[in-house]
Amino acid sequence: MKIYITRKIPEIGIKKLQEKGYEVDINPEDRVLSKEELISALKTKPYDAVLCLLTDKIDDDVFAAVPKAKIFVNYAVGYDNIDLEAAKKHKKIITNTPGVLTETVAEHTFALLISIARRIVEADKFTREGKYDGWAPMLFLGSDLLGKTLGVVGLGRIGSRVAYHARKGFDMNVIYYDIKRNEEFEKEFDAEYKEKVEEVLKEADFVSLHVPLLDSTRHLINEERLRMMKSSAYLINTSRGPVVDEKALVKILREKVIKGAALDVFEEEPKLADGLAELDNIILTPHIASATEETRSKMSEMAAENIISALEGRTPPNLVSCG
Ligand code: NAD
Repeated sequence: MKIYITRKIPEIGIKKLQEKGYEVDINPEDRVLSKEELISALKTKPYDAVLCLLTDKIDDDVFAAVPKAKIFVNYAVGYDNIDLEAAKKHKKIITNTPGVLTETVAEHTFALLISIARRIVEADKFTREGKYDGWAPMLFLGSDLLGKTLGVVGLGRIGSRVAYHARKGFDMNVIYYDIKRNEEFEKEFDAEYKEKVEEVLKEADFVSLHVPLLDSTRHLINEERLRMMKSSAYLINTSRGPVVDEKALVKILREKVIKGAALDVFEEEPKLADGLAELDNIILTPHIASATEETRSKMSEMAAENIISALEGRTPPNLVSCG
């Protein structure tokens, strides 16, 4: 069996595949391949499986380049980079890596939330620049979390874990919007369901986004909705960049319509919207919410297990689409 991996990932999954006797080829350069480069790499051998990343756009042309491949394994929980219609047409199985990164992403979300509320990045820069000349009563006043309301948009695996930390760890109130209501969760966490995203935006002190990128969630947070938020509120986005209208966000942060924002994802990665990086009421991280050694290794193992299952004729454990 021949496997192609579009960029180096932690060894553990690669070893698992090699132990099965599979021939594993990895893009030798540590960078994203262009579509043309990916297609020509895939055409070099009759590959049986492809391990791809969220930075690879997998469409009709890419599937057509590997007619023998049975499965495309996405090294991410989100799979908005893959054209699922085209996958069906080419009878390719698609899998992802859900669950193993939930905690890690929830922790990063909280790191961003606390950092923006307590102005950690601004304060670090100030201190390093030698501007600290003694304790002062009005220096870097931030916002408390205790008793504040967290608004979760998308109460799935990650969103509900962020809500858990907020409720159990910081004694925050939780409200949420999702297309599916979760009454069991509401009972356990004293959480309140809102039928409209607008209600969450109007009431929350912190809005945290955890929806997948779909047609229904693209620009879910647009200018009109951003203007509904409290002037003291913060927006945190660790989901996918296009869920927020980034240009509108720059505008409302410039106008100080809301207090601040923290983003791990951007509309046109790796580019940032004009003016975003110049703002001081924002924290930016480069799409690293799942980036811990432990989690990336688990994702590597999980991806390998999906390939092995499919190639041994079993249903892969993390099926997105069955081909
Ligand atoms: P999940 O499927 O468990 O949760 C998604 C939730 O969104 C579900 O409850 C679903 O009902 C809800 N939803 C779907 N469409 C909606 C809509 N139109 N309006 C409101 N709610 C809607 O997924 P998850 O594992 O929690 O991951 C969520 C997303 O986080 C992923 O799809 C991915 O894009 C993103 N993510 C980002 C990183 C990162 O590195 N920043 C890492 C992992 C995941």
